Amino acid sequence: MTTSSDTPTTGRSAEIEIRCPADGRTVGSVPDMGEAEVAAMASRLRAAQPEWQALGPRKRAEWLLRWNDWVLDNKRHLQEIVQLEGGKSWGDASIEPLAVTQTLRYAAANGPAALGDDHPRAVGLPNVAKKLRVRHHPYPLVGVISPWNYPLAMPMFDTPFALVAGCAVLSKPSEVTPLAWVEAVKGWSEIGAPPVLDVATGGGAAGAAVVDVVDMVQFTGSTATGRRIGARAGERLIPCSLELGGKDPMIVLADADLERAANGAVWGGLFNAGQSCTAIERVYVEAPVYDRFVEVVTEKVAAMRQGMDEPGSFRTDIGALATQSQLDLVSRHVDEALAGGARATTGGRAAGEGFLYEPTVLVDVDQSMACVQEETFGPVLPIIRVADADEAVRLANDTVYGLSASIWTKDADRADALADRLRVGAVNVNNCMINVFQFPLPHSGWQESGVGSRFGGAKGFLKFCRDQAYVTERVEPSSELLWYPYTARVGGLMGKMVNLLAARDWRRRLRG
Ligand code: NAD
Repeated sequence: MTTSSDTPTTGRSAEIEIRCPADGRTVGSVPDMGEAEVAAMASRLRAAQPEWQALGPRKRAEWLLRWNDWVLDNKRHLQEIVQLEGGKSWGDASIEPLAVTQTLRYAAANGPAALGDDHPRAVGLPNVAKKLRVRHHPYPLVGVISPWNYPLAMPMFDTPFALVAGCAVLSKPSEVTPLAWVEAVKGWSEIGAPPVLDVATGGGAAGAAVVDVVDMVQFTGSTATGRRIGARAGERLIPCSLELGGKDPMIVLADADLERAANGAVWGGLFNAGQSCTAIERVYVEAPVYDRFVEVVTEKVAAMRQGMDEPGSFRTDIGALATQSQLDLVSRHVDEALAGGARATTGGRAAGEGFLYEPTVLVDVDQSMACVQEETFGPVLPIIRVADADEAVRLANDTVYGLSASIWTKDADRADALADRLRVGAVNVNNCMINVFQFPLPHSGWQESGVGSRFGGAKGFLKFCRDQAYVTERVEPSSELLWYPYTARVGGLMGKMVNLLAARDWRRRLRG
């Protein structure tokens, strides 16, 4: 038997036991599926997909709305599972029903229009009689592979978009937190929806088996796994969209509203125990306000209540880390920083039972330290003093990642100019992480934070489709200028036409 604490990647045991990371209690188990089970699931989904596609986007969207009703009717139950398998505070777990229902409603409302044919105009005199269309055909089977940090929201950020596009979806949640998603997929069949959504459970091997049988992969997870999936997708010549890790910088300029910036830093850095791809992982503060900023942030972080509270109670703010290896990683980053001369103004160690780590503020941090260079994915805020905005931008860009960033200032023009210089897929001004919930905007990582994007208005649906160029004729003579037989008369005419159409001056136009 494998457990969530040692996160299996190769094991083939029959069941994976899921334990609550806050107190170690067993909360459920799922099958650790192998290649054959995943392949059989894929065949069933493929068989059901054509009928689903034939329904058309409006009828497919109706099924999303019925699923949304089911989620609302089962909201508390789902949230309880999310809390238990993730060891979260009830407040942190509350974001999931919000994210899930917002995504479903958006996909249902906007999918049908986005998926309609495009009718571009033909270009140039030779094409004047052509009628052009772009038709969007779904990839029959899409694999959605997700991480453990948001057990429902992560698969739900992509699944409704693929479904409304007409794809069948073979989902693979993390082996650490699969239970809430398994329950949500049960909801899809409970409402009587067509069997075009299923869930393969298991570790990395099950994920790899999914990549081997689908027509397109949507992956969210670590950069290391993303690289492996990208390589395999390349071998199979299937497209993949990779949403990967981050090391998001926050830049606080001297004119910022310090109270708002401090509240933003605490939430953006520590929400979900810091386990968000777009979490604030490092803070650069202009020298004149550095000391005050550190003081305010430290006070707020020290006041945070830690632990997994009773459902509905909102008695704690911050819960546990998801796995032992995550706890080890966070401990290493903080211990190395402290050994290298940094100081924890609050926190700085594991908090006892379960995988809890004290919310931590680090100062006197050096840019070369692991806590600044590597993704920590934990409740740790390193705060670094910078001389000015130029130094902040230079240090913010000193990373292999490029997911998002935030700039805190009252000067909108300055924020615009600084954003231009940041190598990231998103910039929030006087806020953090919130770009992820703007579905009309693309959520994409630059550099090692990803390839492709999710959301982004129509693009968020069309990425699950293959474009088909479609040309029809307004008039249909018995032959055309380009067709056989070639003759000197027609060839000469063509030569003249090339010059007439392409030249910018009369001398060349008439030379033909
Ligand atoms: P992970 O890469 O370890 O696992 C993610 C998923 O991939 C899991 O379901 C896992 O079983 C599966 N997997 C593992 N090996 C595989 C393989 N060879 N082939 C196919 N699937 C495989 O990531 P994690 O530890 O679960 O999640 C944390 C990471 O996710 C962090 O780096 C975080 O930044 C990232 N993340 C990114 C975003 C984003 O949108 N950019 C969002 C959330 C999390």
